[in-house]
Amino acid sequence: MKVKNVVKDLKPYQPNDIPYTIKLDANESENYLFPQGIMMNEIEVNRYPDSSAFELRKSIQEFIKVDHKLIIAGNGSSEMIELILKTFIEPKDRILSFEPSFSMYSIFSKIYFADYVAVSSEPDFSLDMIKMIGLAKKLNPKVIFICSPNNPTGFKFDHSEIIELVQNTKSLIVLDEAYIEFSSDQDSLVSYVESFDNLIVLRTLSKAFGLAGARLGYLVSNQDIIHALNTVKSPYNLNSITQFIGIQALKQVDKMIKFTNQIKQEKSVLDQKLSSLGLQTYSSEANFIFFKCEVIDLFKKLVERKILIRSFGGLLVGYYRVTVGTRAQNEMLIANLKEIIDEKS
Ligand code: PMP
Repeated sequence: MKVKNVVKDLKPYQPNDIPYTIKLDANESENYLFPQGIMMNEIEVNRYPDSSAFELRKSIQEFIKVDHKLIIAGNGSSEMIELILKTFIEPKDRILSFEPSFSMYSIFSKIYFADYVAVSSEPDFSLDMIKMIGLAKKLNPKVIFICSPNNPTGFKFDHSEIIELVQNTKSLIVLDEAYIEFSSDQDSLVSYVESFDNLIVLRTLSKAFGLAGARLGYLVSNQDIIHALNTVKSPYNLNSITQFIGIQALKQVDKMIKFTNQIKQEKSVLDQKLSSLGLQTYSSEANFIFFKCEVIDLFKKLVERKILIRSFGGLLVGYYRVTVGTRAQNEMLIANLKEIIDEKS
């Protein structure tokens, strides 16, 4: 069978499947909400799930203080990103974003035959909204992806800069707030979705709630956009087990806040320790730190010690992203990095 040409040229998204002792490569969290496992006998697996995930959306409403009618839930924010493109993108439409940023924006863009353009970040990996607004006016993209806090750099825009973009372009702005709960001011734009006709905010329970394995994300937008997306969304997209877990998780927001506060503290300790090894780190508003290291084959050397962090190709060779782990995991990482750096000199 002949696949689409764009698919032929794509490499599949390849998460690490290397054996590990310490896994700090995927921005996951501890399993702190369900250490005892989950009681499955409350879930009717013989029945189709609630296609609209009503109860879950009510729980999300309570958490983010936005009406459940303005929310759609799905299999991670990844499904929500694809749903947006499925609904709005026609071949050759333009999609604008920054680089480096979350790789799935460009992968999905290719699959939907869009023309993907990315604005380069500044030498210090900050992102320039004025540049973005300028290019948006020139190129008139259908969709603009803004990841804030940004993966992999941790850079975060001020609230006002994003509003300026939304107000100054006709493009559909997709603001990806996957890491917002880890940021210092947590100034989400979910409460602004009804003020504009062109804003979608993406959120996930994969990060701060520690539910990456359950696959649960959601988007928030105005009624017209939600209506359009709901006509395209697959029926029963979110299974009953995940809906149940999501509702239970959202009853424990206090634990999530405690956890994210702890990660913020550990992040500043880890940042200081990486810096004291002579590594350049970049200020991060997420649950990871982006850093530069000159050691050749650092990723491979850490894998030999069963420690996983994220490495990059292309222009980002020599840059790494490490998830902030527990104090013990971070200390093990630092001890091993020190040994590797000392071996080199
Ligand atoms: N957006 C960003 C910025 C991410 O980093 C990720 C996960 N790496 C996602 C979306 C997707 O997350 P999920 O599908 O697990 O909700």
